[in-house]
Amino acid sequence: MLCIGFDVGGTNARGCLMEFTDATAPPRQLAEVKERIRDTRAPSQVAAVMADIATRLVEQEGVDPAQIESAGVGIAGQLDKTGNTVVGAPNLGWTNVPFKSVLVESLAGAGFTPPVRIVNDLAANVWGEFCVGAARGHQDVLAVYVGTGVGGGVIAAGKLYGGHGGKAGEIGHSKVVPHGAPCGCGQRGCVEAYVGGRRLEERLTQDYRAGRSLGLRPYLPVELRDVDHMHMDAIIRPDVADAAAAAGELYADGLWSYVADLLAMAIANGAMVLNPGLILLGGGVLRNTKELSRRVVERIPSYILRAAADDIEIRFGELGDDAGVYGAALLARG
Ligand SMILES: [Zn+2]
Repeated sequence: MLCIGFDVGGTNARGCLMEFTDATAPPRQLAEVKERIRDTRAPSQVAAVMADIATRLVEQEGVDPAQIESAGVGIAGQLDKTGNTVVGAPNLGWTNVPFKSVLVESLAGAGFTPPVRIVNDLAANVWGEFCVGAARGHQDVLAVYVGTGVGGGVIAAGKLYGGHGGKAGEIGHSKVVPHGAPCGCGQRGCVEAYVGGRRLEERLTQDYRAGRSLGLRPYLPVELRDVDHMHMDAIIRPDVADAAAAAGELYADGLWSYVADLLAMAIANGAMVLNPGLILLGGGVLRNTKELSRRVVERIPSYILRAAADDIEIRFGELGDDAGVYGAALLARG
């Protein structure tokens, strides 16, 4: 079965042509095309770029567009319950865009008429891992991704769980500190405001410039070690703090303990409500911070009621960036 999976972020649209053979094995990826959409974010233009990507994919493999059996789209935004309208996608600047009809028309213009389904990118991710990745064999999964922000996805009784309005899984905006740090969502005290990659970078960079974390100096990239901290204009990334924390550096150790606690607490709270068999972790920040990830994994069980903690498995995703395109294509197949 030939499918196209799309991943649409704020900067690029990526499409993969893949062939699913075994129902439980990752597909064979036949071709991949990525195009920049940063300067052309109008919905009709994004749809045109996606139709162009689809055309290039089938041309590369010498496939007829009519052979494509499903096309799925994971998009960094919230969908309405029907999946026809993107209610909000801050990275694209979209509000209430009926994107499905726009995309279907654009694809049809290029000769593609498969069923199309649009889902939240993290929902696509968890579905990909559930069908052909690290969550295979589980029926109840709580997935938590820490990247620029913090997001999640839920599988309940073998089905993607969207909740009443299709917005289940927003674990990043669960509150962990009353009246705490301001979050991008406009509220305060969300776990994302402490653990999201953007916030971690801001905090690490500000603290260094203010001289509060000079112990990080030996862990900075070589070319930055001699820069006077007050004039540091590079961004300090979480992997720097991760190396320092692993070596016991005091500032990083303290910060990592604190944020690991907050994230573990938010995940455990989600797990207490859902009773998943698997907690699946992923996202760019966790992938690049072994020490932080280790602490989070270690602490989650201590925040879960003992009777429920014993049979919860905690595991990392295994498909990386491909989970979303696989999941989107599989969801479109129905
Ligand atoms: Zn928030």
